[in-house]
Amino acid sequence: MSRIEILTIGDELVEGRLVDTNAGEMSAVLADAGLRVARHASVGDEIGEIVAALRAAASRADAVLVSGGLGPTSDDLTAAAAAAAFGLAVERSAEAFEHTRRFFVERGREMAPTNAKQADLPAGSTILPNPVGTAVGFRLDTGACRLYFMPGVPHELRRMVADQVLPDLTGRLAAAPPLVATLKIFGLGESDVAHRLEGIERGVPEEVRLTVQYRATFPEIHVRLVLAGDRCGATPEVLEALAGEARRRLGRHVFAVGGAVLDAGFPDRVAAELAERGLTMAAAEVASSGRLAQLLGLTADGRRCLAGGLVAPDPEALATQLGTVSADPGELAETVRRRLDAGIGVAALGAAGGPGGPPPGRLVVAAAGRGRELRRELHFPLDPDRFQLLAAYAALRLAFELATDEG
Ligand code: ATP
Ligand code: MG
Repeated sequence: MSRIEILTIGDELVEGRLVDTNAGEMSAVLADAGLRVARHASVGDEIGEIVAALRAAASRADAVLVSGGLGPTSDDLTAAAAAAAFGLAVERSAEAFEHTRRFFVERGREMAPTNAKQADLPAGSTILPNPVGTAVGFRLDTGACRLYFMPGVPHELRRMVADQVLPDLTGRLAAAPPLVATLKIFGLGESDVAHRLEGIERGVPEEVRLTVQYRATFPEIHVRLVLAGDRCGATPEVLEALAGEARRRLGRHVFAVGGAVLDAGFPDRVAAELAERGLTMAAAEVASSGRLAQLLGLTADGRRCLAGGLVAPDPEALATQLGTVSADPGELAETVRRRLDAGIGVAALGAAGGPGGPPPGRLVVAAAGRGRELRRELHFPLDPDRFQLLAAYAALRLAFELATDEG
């Protein structure tokens, strides 16, 4: 079994000013390709620390992924540290220099003299091109270990890992990609989901190693069913049967099923469903404070399906804006639908709580349209941020049910 380590470099990381998302992201991408990372480490912009960390990692691992410190400033020490760690000279690379120069020329900018430093690499390194930034990455072999040095800027790093490091790693190390199914759920708590999936592993052949991973991205729950790729019983058929069983147990709360990567969130799903039926939606928002419009505004489908919306501090103010006397949730939903000429109208009423307001955490959502009305009352004493988000999701849920004749 090969050993992989990750080293992230930067004062902000060890001083706690920046959360190290690079290490986690790299590990997740590698895991989906069947490569397990044995260790994460971080060091500050201190050459002695970087040298020691590089030597230690290289002495243990078959591959080390390094991020950060490739920039032009004096605190960017990674290339010098790599040279020092493995007794190599630092040489200006004509290829790297040309890359950086071209990056500036293509953007009509002058290259500062300090940027030339980004072309100073340890002798014998191979360049990892960076199509989206000034600093090239590089790789270096020492003994049995290959080290990959990459920029700290997350989107540059992501691209380099996907295009260059991952293919190189999977070619060099034996990778057994796991089979992964992802299910996204809204409307059940994490413990409920776990309870419903209890014992699901009993349905898979004994030689298969299944892990059920949970991730709560409030208010959605994401479940990943992972079959270890190094077992012969792990077939697509076994995974499909398992995902089908999970789906059956979780019922209508599952809004998306896919493979290892599944980007769509619940608002996208609702918007797609409405778009497919040629339906638009209008929103009257008290509890969600405009979050519903914001969520839909994030995708093209969502923007197309949102006819418009109103935000008000309480139901009475909404009624005044809409020119109705009643502040009844169903009536508000129907009025906003008619006023904005939409197929479905929703109203989200209630508040997270506060002095003098209604009882905290009470949420009433209603949806009207297609000759029907749906209404739901919920109680969620949450902080305002999560309460608003949940209110928007609950209203979207009703719109979904109206559109699909569910509920
Ligand atoms: P640059 O050419 O931009 O200087 P660099 O390779 O020198 O790139 P750093 O200076 O270490 O990279 O980091 C650049 C920026 O990238 C940081 O300010 C930070 O915003 C982000 N970054 C760096 N390391 C990480 C990390 N481990 N996790 C998340 N973000 C990071
Ligand atoms: Mg930098």
